[in-house]
Amino acid sequence: MSLTELETFESLDPATGEVLASYPRHDAAAVRAAVERATEAARWWAELGFQERKRRLLDYKAVLTRNLPRVVAMVSQETGKPEGDAILETALAITHLDWAARKAAKVLGRRRVASGLVAMNMAATLEYLPLGVIGVIGPWNYPVFTPMGSIGYALAAGNAVVFKPSEYTPGVGVLLAELFAEAVPEQPVFQAVTGLGETGAALAGDPGVKKIAFTGSAATARRVMAACAQNLTPMVAECGGKDAFIVDAGADLGAAADAALWGAMSNSGQTCVGVERVYAVDSVYDEFLRELTKRAQQVKAGEHYGPITMPGQLDIIRWHIDDATGSGKAIVGGPESVRAPFVDPVIVTDVPEDSRAVREETFGPTVTVKRVADVAEALEKANASAYGLAGTIFSGDRKRAMELARRMLTGMTAINSIISFAGVPALPFGGVGESGFGRIHGADGLREFTRPKAVSRQR
Ligand code: NAD
Repeated sequence: MSLTELETFESLDPATGEVLASYPRHDAAAVRAAVERATEAARWWAELGFQERKRRLLDYKAVLTRNLPRVVAMVSQETGKPEGDAILETALAITHLDWAARKAAKVLGRRRVASGLVAMNMAATLEYLPLGVIGVIGPWNYPVFTPMGSIGYALAAGNAVVFKPSEYTPGVGVLLAELFAEAVPEQPVFQAVTGLGETGAALAGDPGVKKIAFTGSAATARRVMAACAQNLTPMVAECGGKDAFIVDAGADLGAAADAALWGAMSNSGQTCVGVERVYAVDSVYDEFLRELTKRAQQVKAGEHYGPITMPGQLDIIRWHIDDATGSGKAIVGGPESVRAPFVDPVIVTDVPEDSRAVREETFGPTVTVKRVADVAEALEKANASAYGLAGTIFSGDRKRAMELARRMLTGMTAINSIISFAGVPALPFGGVGESGFGRIHGADGLREFTRPKAVSRQR
């Protein structure tokens, strides 16, 4: 079947419901064809070597930068987020691409290692070789930034990429691949295939795909894993979170309130590392809550952040707000904050820890705040989550904060600043438990898309 005969689906403007464009629903045969083209391209790309790939990826960076207004317009249209937020995520995606391109040779190139078999006079070398074709399956909340955390690193490591963007943001995915072809026209090193979940499943189950980098919900990750199991295809799973934010004595409460507000409300709360639970110690609780409330009352959906991108998500947010306000005390907003497709900020205190609003990912501009006796109780509650993506600690005591960070059951913790969705290019990004496994970003993120090649040699 040719691509023109494939069924189609439509992308929508989340604020108005207006149809933006229609895209092919790539079926298993179309995915197979893309993976075959990518397999050829991967050989060529791997042979180019680190220096030439770096040059090409920096060309891609230049094309993306030149086309920033186009990318930003597409992100803004498909997700509904304000232009400023779309610029921020695209700029940060470019930062990661740049980091991966410049660091790949140093992190992955061949080096001599002490073999440990001195008596046998054995020499040893280690290098990290590309895997071939990487399948990237992306979400809609940060449609440039999040997939680039896999795509940029997989390409820098010498792989070809077939990318299945979210069905809510197909235009962004197609545009990213088209712009890559401007920088690297010779071979289809980076292609996009569009469609619903079935297209992602076809990619995960394709025998030519050597690793899947998945970002999305834990429920979908389980289905992707099942598809990967057919060929023992390994995967990275970047899933959701229920991040905790601890406010300790001595913290700068104004800065903590700013950070908690940004962490909870930016991108309409549709952030995997969004702040969803705050635990403040008794001595600072009242003042912190006052500071947070004051700030949240100034924020309005539609002015400071956009609509909820995915219509189904509104129901989950509504259930969580009803649940939280039913058992706790609404401080800012409440059920009336849901003005579909917008949701104004909601802050609720005294919500029982076993309630849905505290246990499950809300993915909306809502946060629960709880008074705790001390940081030990805060940590115990923070860690009593099925998720373990990131967390934040504001404290006046650096040593105590460092110790708390180490004991926090997450992949990432920020002290006296907010974990940004962007992560830090040099540090690995990822979680534990329902938040997934494997790492993107940093040296670990580069190695994730390689096979370590060990060579031992008798001297
Ligand atoms: P989702 O799980 O609904 O979809 C993610 C992707 O998987 C989409 O492209 C979808 O088409 C595809 N898919 C659906 N069914 C599939 C199947 N059976 N096989 C293969 N692919 C399939 O997630 P979403 O709603 O797009 O994104 C929101 C979730 O992503 C939230 O839970 C959020 O926390 C998480 N997220 C995590 C990170 C991170 O880095 N940890 C970053 C952003 C978002």
